[in-house]
Amino acid sequence: VVISIASGKGGTGKTTIAVNLALSLNDVQLIDCDVEEPNCHLFLKPQIEKRFPVGIATPEVDESRCDYCGKCAEACQFKALAVIKGSVLHFSELCHGCGACSYICPQKAIEEKVREIGIILIGKAGDIEFINGLLNIGEPMAVPIIRKEKGLIDRRKTVVIDVQPGTSCPVVVAVRGTDFCLLVTEPTPFGLNDLKIAVEMVRKLSVPLGVVVNCSDIGDRKVWDYCNRENIPILTEIPWDRRIAEAYSRGIPLIEEMPDHKEKFRLLYNQIEAIIEGTIPKSIAQTKN
Ligand code: SF4
Ligand code: SF4
Repeated sequence: VVISIASGKGGTGKTTIAVNLALSLNDVQLIDCDVEEPNCHLFLKPQIEKRFPVGIATPEVDESRCDYCGKCAEACQFKALAVIKGSVLHFSELCHGCGACSYICPQKAIEEKVREIGIILIGKAGDIEFINGLLNIGEPMAVPIIRKEKGLIDRRKTVVIDVQPGTSCPVVVAVRGTDFCLLVTEPTPFGLNDLKIAVEMVRKLSVPLGVVVNCSDIGDRKVWDYCNRENIPILTEIPWDRRIAEAYSRGIPLIEEMPDHKEKFRLLYNQIEAIIEGTIPKSIAQTKN
């Protein structure tokens, strides 16, 4: 089973859920796809065994061959090339490394050079196989790293993917093709607003979804009302607890600090599995106590 853990906005406790779910199960692969700000390693303290760079192909124009016909710029659907006044400009922050420009160039004036955009670290945290993508600072292209990480998914294991917050392209790539997406939210107006956007995205990807409400005893009931209306299961609720916040700030996983929560995470997993297998209906949304 491959479970993606996402959230419409940052700071909802998504990484806490990912790390503690992974720690509560056996035979787990945890993939941190929040490549701009990966945090799982802070709690898992893994032993890194392998690391390898991730690069994307970047076009380099040999101006001695180029006749400035402009065909490369026309072919680039990402507007990463412009041909003006006898020169070819390349905007690397827009380039997806698709190779269309070098393929189309009639003069064979474009060569593809690999530009390193980040690294992938592979290691162990206890029994957990840990994979961590890390984007170079200032590098805008997270997607190629996430694709590489997802290429390492081992479907014989339970796979937990920590997805970056929001609903941008890297989030779509990380969630697409997973068996279930867990959306972590808080019962606040911002939390609800971002949850709605995230639900829309996950539904477009046809990935079954459920919600975890963190800090469930603050705010109002609107998240519950929304989930009930939309037939979205709320699979667990975690009330605000000072000990959780303190453990987080010290880099200690919640279930180490409060071991009674381990059962809660196991139950969460069982519910996800049952929904995927169709043995319990999706409409099991709980109401706030
Ligand atoms: S397609 Fe090739 S020849 Fe034409 S402008 Fe681009 S690099 Fe130059
Ligand atoms: S590699 Fe693709 S995205 Fe990059 S400049 Fe060429 S056509 Fe555009």
